[in-house]
Formats: sequence, structure tokens, C-alpha cells
Amino acid sequence: MSTPHTLSPDTLAAQALGWVAPEHRDLAPTLHPASTFERAADGSYPDGRVYARDHSPAYDQAEALLAALESGYQALLFASGMAAANALLQALEPGAHVLAPRIMYWGLRNWLQTLAERGQITLDFYDNADHNALSAKLRARPPRLLWIETPANPTWEITDIAATCAARTAGTLVAVDSTVSTPLLTRPLALGADFVMHSATKYLNGHSDVVAGALVCREDSPLWQRVRQQRAVAGAVLGPFEAWLLLRGMRTLALRVRHACASAQRIAETLHGHKRLTQVLYPGLPSHGGHAVAAAQMQGGFGGMLSIRVAGGERAAMAVAGRLRVFKRATSLGAVESLVEHRASVEGPGTICPPDLLRLSIGIEATNDLIADLHQALDVSP
Ligand code: PLP
Repeated sequence: MSTPHTLSPDTLAAQALGWVAPEHRDLAPTLHPASTFERAADGSYPDGRVYARDHSPAYDQAEALLAALESGYQALLFASGMAAANALLQALEPGAHVLAPRIMYWGLRNWLQTLAERGQITLDFYDNADHNALSAKLRARPPRLLWIETPANPTWEITDIAATCAARTAGTLVAVDSTVSTPLLTRPLALGADFVMHSATKYLNGHSDVVAGALVCREDSPLWQRVRQQRAVAGAVLGPFEAWLLLRGMRTLALRVRHACASAQRIAETLHGHKRLTQVLYPGLPSHGGHAVAAAQMQGGFGGMLSIRVAGGERAAMAVAGRLRVFKRATSLGAVESLVEHRASVEGPGTICPPDLLRLSIGIEATNDLIADLHQALDVSP
């Protein structure tokens, strides 16, 4: 059943580790819808599985593949990225101190604030790209959990994972939301992080038809066992069909991500300096503040996400989004189709996202079609 992990991530993903079901030698993964498993006459469970909430075989192959791609000890699938992040937060000791980036996925940022208001955690924020300020915070009040998101939504600040992990003191756990980077571009565990979290809804699945999440740990620990318990007992589990679709999506991860990276780089370079834009935010541009760290930390590209700031403010940005024909106007990211999103209005009151910003998720369409679409939407007299 197993494949040597010396193979490249592209090969591991394409073959989903090369697992073949023994009975019929199926090359396509088997779908496991069972919610319960038969006990033997002697009362034992021959396969070790009792009930699907904590023992579903539907997760095995996708979890093994993700653990291999991240070079982790173990991966766990969840019903969403938020469920994955929450399992880790819930596993912390009550009142644990969490240090989170100022710029990060808005939904989780808000939820951290809610948990802090409820007294379940204490919370402080750091400036994503200011390594010295972050190190000072790590020393002044060592958090139990340091949360990193890099590149960070929606302005794509870069945090130096290795330098940050080196700057923490014993007792601080580091978790990285690597949704945007994917296991192909950044390996947070190899850089010293303890946990990687993915909204598997995005690149891992890649087809806008599954909501899922994942956590991967570097090593086993009592805290990881609490995360496992959290999933099994709190019950935020993924359905078997979603797990199957996720695995199917992961098999083309390398093709999709590498195409999206190349396309995003070309689009960012083409739009950089455009007269209707005040800024193009993409870590692959030398003008981006995090470019040097990203170039060292990300292998094979700078990701498929970029943002543009439109001259003329919110109304002008909305008008550009409205004129796009190939890009779909929708929230989310990391799928085969390119998306445009006015983040400030999606995030709503309290957002710190600039109102003139449009977030672009680059899909796998022909790059020239996307560039032509952006040009026709931008090159209109105001
Ligand atoms: N992390 C990032 C970077 C995201 O973009 C999202 C969702 O947009 C999440 C986490 C939450 O994931 P999910 O929507 O799967 O719960």
C-alpha cells in the first residue's frame, strides 16, 4: 500500500501515494460511506474501527497524502478550515495566550476576538511583516500559540517562518495557516512550525465543490491527542463523499498550483504600473515588502493570489469588478476558475481591508484570457 516518500510531491499527489485497493486493484480510490463497522463474534473489532465519527476509512488516504506532502507525523481532516483551526484552539489550556497576525483570514481573526471576549483565550496581534516587533512580543509575553498566515489575506504580507520559530521560547507552539501557499510551495513543519492548517476548501480540493479543512502535526504530543479527541467527540467531521472529492482534487494539485503561480506572476508583472491602479500586491514582485523572504521561503512560485488597488477608491474598484467577464465575482480562492472579490464589502463592518482593493484568485484558464479580461475592465475612461 505504501509509497516511498523520497518521490517528489508532484508524484505523490498525482498517484495519491499509489495506494491500490487489494480486492479489485482499483486505481481510483474507494468511497467509504459506512457509518458503522461490524464487530466479530468474540466482541472484537477486526479492523480496529467502531464508528465513522472517529474511525472513518474515508479519510485515510487523503490524510496520509497530506501528512506526506507536509512531511508531518499525522494529518487530520475536518469539516472545514475553521473546524480545523478551532480543534487546535479548543485543545489549548483554558485562558491560553494566543498571538495572531494583524492581517489574516478575516473570519478566523473575528473568531479569535470572540473567543478572547468570552475569556477562553487571551489575544494579542503582531504586525505580519515586522520580524523584530514580533520577536519582541514573543519574548515579552511568550504565547502558548503563535498563529502565522503567510502569504496573509488579502495583502499577502510574508512572515519568515524559520526566523520566527527560532525566536520563540520553549512552551510556545507555532501553527501556520498555509492555505494560500499549499504544501507545494512552503513546508512550514520543516521550517520549525509545530502545526500546519489548511482550508482544504481552497487549493487542496481546487474545484469549488467541497468545504473541508486539515491539520498536520510535526510530532505526536498530548496536545495533538487532544486535537484528535476534539474531532472525534466534538464531531465536526467531514462527510465521506467530500473526503473522496478532496482526494480527487489533490491529485491535480501540482498542475493547478504551478499553473496558477506562473499565471499570477505574469498578471502581476503586466498590471504593475498600470495607470488605473495605485498598487499591485503580489509577493513575486520585487516591489512587495516580503519579496526577499518569500523568495527564500517559497519554492517554485509565489502563489496564485494577488490583489490590486484601484485608483478612484471603492466605487471605481466595484466598477472594475463589475466589468470583468472571465473572472467570476465570488468569495473564496484556490479553485480552477479565477475569482475577483471586493474584500472590504465581504468582510463588512470593522474590516481593515482597504476599500479600493480587489482580490484576485488566479485559476487555470489561459493567462492571456485573464490579462485581456483585466485590461478591458481597467482600460475604461473614468
Ligand atoms: N484560512 C484561509 C486563509 C482562508 O482563506 C479561509 C477561508 O476563506 C479559511 C482559513 C477558513 O476555511 P473554511 O472556509 O474552509 O472554513
